[in-house]
Amino acid sequence: MGMGRGEEAEKGIPRIRPLPEELIRLIAAGEVIERPASVVKELVENSLDAGAREVVVTLEGGGLRRIEVADDGIGILPEDLPLAIQRHATSKVPEGRGLQGVSTLGFRGEALAAIAAVSRLRIVSRVADQPTAYGITHEEGRTGPVEPAGRGPGTTVEVRDLFHATPARRKFLGTESIEGLRVLRLLERMYLCRPSVRYVLRSEGREIARYPATLDLREAAVAVFGRALRSGSFEFRGSGGPGVWVRGIASHPSVSRRGGSGVVTAVNGRLIQEHLVQEACREAYGDLLPGGRSPVVILHVEVDPSRVDVNVHPAKREVRWENPKDLRENLVHILRSRLAELPRAGVPLSLLPVWQRAGREDLPGPLAPIKPAPEGWTSAQTTPFVAPLPEGGEEVPALRGTGGFPSLRILGQVGALYLVTEDLEEPGTLVLVDAHAASERIGYERLGEELREARQVLLQPYDLELTPRQQEALRRHRAELERWGFEIDPFGGASYRVRSVPTLLGLRGRPEQVGELLEELADGGRGVPGDSEFERRRKTVACHMAIRAGDRLDLAEMRRLLQTLSATPRNFSCPHGRPILVRVPRPVLNQWFRRP
Ligand code: ADP
Ligand code: MG
Repeated sequence: MGMGRGEEAEKGIPRIRPLPEELIRLIAAGEVIERPASVVKELVENSLDAGAREVVVTLEGGGLRRIEVADDGIGILPEDLPLAIQRHATSKVPEGRGLQGVSTLGFRGEALAAIAAVSRLRIVSRVADQPTAYGITHEEGRTGPVEPAGRGPGTTVEVRDLFHATPARRKFLGTESIEGLRVLRLLERMYLCRPSVRYVLRSEGREIARYPATLDLREAAVAVFGRALRSGSFEFRGSGGPGVWVRGIASHPSVSRRGGSGVVTAVNGRLIQEHLVQEACREAYGDLLPGGRSPVVILHVEVDPSRVDVNVHPAKREVRWENPKDLRENLVHILRSRLAELPRAGVPLSLLPVWQRAGREDLPGPLAPIKPAPEGWTSAQTTPFVAPLPEGGEEVPALRGTGGFPSLRILGQVGALYLVTEDLEEPGTLVLVDAHAASERIGYERLGEELREARQVLLQPYDLELTPRQQEALRRHRAELERWGFEIDPFGGASYRVRSVPTLLGLRGRPEQVGELLEELADGGRGVPGDSEFERRRKTVACHMAIRAGDRLDLAEMRRLLQTLSATPRNFSCPHGRPILVRVPRPVLNQWFRRP
C-alpha cells in the first residue's frame, strides 16, 4: 500500500486535483477533527500514503498549542501546495475511478482543509529530487503565498492553536495531559497496523516514545504492550471468509487488558475501531479471562479493497464488511483452535465465579435459594473455599454508633473474597462483606487525606519494565503518586524500581499492581460519569491497591478490615457504587430451608 517510490520516479509525483461533484456527494459527511488525536491521525495517514519510512510527531500543550508531523515521504510539488489545503482536492483518486477500491488511507481531500479551518496551518515540503523546499501558511481563513523554505526531502505539517477561534469546542476536550496521552495511544495503534514505519513522539520538549521499524509483529507488540508478550503470545493466521485474510498476534490468557483496550484491528493497514473483532476475541477466550478483560490481539486483515467499504465513517474509523458474520465466526474459530493448542500449564484456571459459567441470569440473588450446580460441574468445583472457623468465633469489638455499622462476629472468608459474618445485634442475620469493595472504599477515603505515613517501604524493591505509555503516565502523575506514598525510580532504559507503595489498610502493599495502575492512569483512570480527573485517578489508585479476589485474609486482617471500615465514611458502597455489605436476615434463611 502507499505509493511505491520507484513508481513515482517514473511517473512523477501524483498531482492534486479536485474530486468530481458526483464523488463529493458520496463522501460520508461529519466531523473529522474533534481533538488533537484526530489531527494527528489525519496527518500521519497522509505521511503513510506518501510512502514515509519515518514519522516524527511533536506536541506542545498536549497538541492544543502545537502539533507537528514530519515525514520523509514523496513530498508535495510547490504548485500543488495551495490545492492541498483546498477542500475535496486529492492526489489519491485517479481520474475516472470511483471511491470503491481506493487503496490509500486518504481519499476525500478534506482533512487538511478541515484542520486549516480550525487552526493556523503551515506546510513545508520538498520533493525528493528537488533542491529546495517550499512552504505555505493558512491562517484566519486566508492562504498565503508559496515561498521557499528549509527542510530535507519530505513534508512537515504544523498545526498551531487548534480551536482557537471556536473556544466552545475546547470544552469537550480533556486536559493537555489527557489529550497528549490520547495521541500516544493513537500512535501505538497506528504503529501496530504498520510496524514497518518508524514512529517518534515528542511532547513538551521530551521524547516520550520511539517505536522501531520492524517486520516482526510480535516485536512491535512488545514495544507497545510490554515484554510479557514476548513469550506470552502466539501467532495466528487463516481465512476470514471469501477474499478476506487474517493474521496476527494474540496473548496467552495470562496477559490481558481491561475493557477492549488490548485489541487492535488493521484492515489493509488502516486502523479501525471494530466492535465485531473485540466481541469475537472475547468470545474466543471465553472464561479463560476474568470478566471485563480482553486479550491483547493485534489483528491484520487483508481484504480485496472492493470487498470492503471504507467510506462509511467521517473519520474513517469504521468499515462496512461484505460479510461480517463470516469474519466473526472465522476469527473465533481460529483463535479458539490456537488457544486449545497452548500448553495447559500456561493457562490459569478461570477466575470467574463458577456460577457465571451458567450465564448471568442464573446468578442467585441474595434472596434466592442456591440452585443445584449446572450440569457437568463436580462438587469440588462448586465447593467454595472457607477459611477454618476461628476458635470459639471471635468478635469484633462492638462498633455501634459509627454510621449505623453493625457489630459483627467473623465466621470466615468464602471464595477468597467475601467475609462471612453474623450480625450480633440481629442474631441469625448473615452479613457478607466484599473484601475488595470494602478495602477500595477505605483506600479511597484515605487518599483524600494525603497520608504520607501510610506508605510501605518494600524490604525487597520491586523491579518492573514500563511501556512508553506507562512511563508517560508516571511522569505526568509523579508528584501526586508520591504524595500518596508511591516511590518509583527510573533504573535505566524502560526499567523502574518500586521502593514504596501506599498501604491503605495496613495490610500488604501491591507493587505488582503498579504497571496496571499506570496503564489505567494513562487512560485517564476509571470512575463514574461526572467524576473529575482527580477523582478518577484517586479511584483508580484505590482500586489497584485494594484487596483482591484471591487474597486469603487471616483473622487479624479480617478484623482490621472491618474495624477500619466501620470508621470510614460512606462505608455502604465502593467508590464505583457497588455494595460492600449484603445482609441475609434469619427469615430468609428459614425460607431457604423451607422452615415455616
Ligand atoms: P486526502 O489525504 O484525502 O487526499 P488531505 O486533505 O489529507 O486529503 O490531503 C490533501 C492532499 O495533500 C493529499 O491528497 C496529498 O496529495 C497531499 N498531502 C498531504 N499531506 C502530505 C504528505 N505528508 N506528503 C505528501 N503529500 C501530502
Ligand atoms: Mg489525508
